[in-house]
Amino acid sequence: LEATMAQSQKMQAVGQLAGGIAHDFNNVLTAIIMSSDLLLTNHRASDPSFADIMNIKQNANRAASLVRQLLAFSRRQTLRPEVLDLTDVIADVRMLLTRLAGTQVNLKIEHGRDLWPVRADLGQFEQVVVNLTVNARDAMPEGGDLTIRTRNIGESESAALNYRDLLPGDYVLVEVQDSGTGMPPEVIEKIFEPFFTTKEVGKGTGLGLSMVYGIIKQTGGSIHCESELGKGTTFRIFLPRHVEAPVLNAAGEVVAVEAPK
Ligand code: ADP
Repeated sequence: LEATMAQSQKMQAVGQLAGGIAHDFNNVLTAIIMSSDLLLTNHRASDPSFADIMNIKQNANRAASLVRQLLAFSRRQTLRPEVLDLTDVIADVRMLLTRLAGTQVNLKIEHGRDLWPVRADLGQFEQVVVNLTVNARDAMPEGGDLTIRTRNIGESESAALNYRDLLPGDYVLVEVQDSGTGMPPEVIEKIFEPFFTTKEVGKGTGLGLSMVYGIIKQTGGSIHCESELGKGTTFRIFLPRHVEAPVLNAAGEVVAVEAPK
């Protein structure tokens, strides 16, 4: 699956919107929540208006939570990349992922040997794995298997893969596979679009995967989704291998990179 230009433009627009108005919008929502709180203290629970005021407050809270996610979404624009060993990074979030996945889900982590380093923002990469884990859990309401695999993909192997946005080169592959519901093609087509969700109101915002997509693109990587209804879903993330000692010109541009040993 290849995300289109229109999708990334939409994502940029959402990022700008978030940065621009989310903060002011949050103040408006705070005023609504405070006023409804005040009203609630002046009404008895038996009052016919009580349930309506409660409803106003709950929905304002829901909107505030959406705004928080929008703010997080716009903040991803400032990445602080560092050289990471994904074996360590995934080991460090294992407990969190286990808790997020819940007791019904059997989480397995399988690392390839001598994983190459990558250059990525630690917090953002963790966010990617967290979002994919939450989606996998939601796709397995009765439980199932969630497997996270990493391995090196050499130049010849990546060249043989037929992904339009993946240039031949060395990559670290992170695979997140679930045995959940899977998706029909018309859903797969839209999953990376901001606000696309099949979850009920209040459960999903449709921002998780567009965030994931934006982070991976900004890291110079690519992401692909393979899914089969009733069988499960696999997300594959390719992050470029980090090579030491880039040679810079006076303008600070990379003009050459030392061949990896
Ligand atoms: P949200 O989770 O808030 O709906 P996302 O952008 O994370 O937003 O996901 C968009 C949609 O993609 C989900 O509503 C769901 O339909 C689908 N989806 C994502 N991950 C999976 C998965 N692992 N299995 C099945 N469907 C998925």
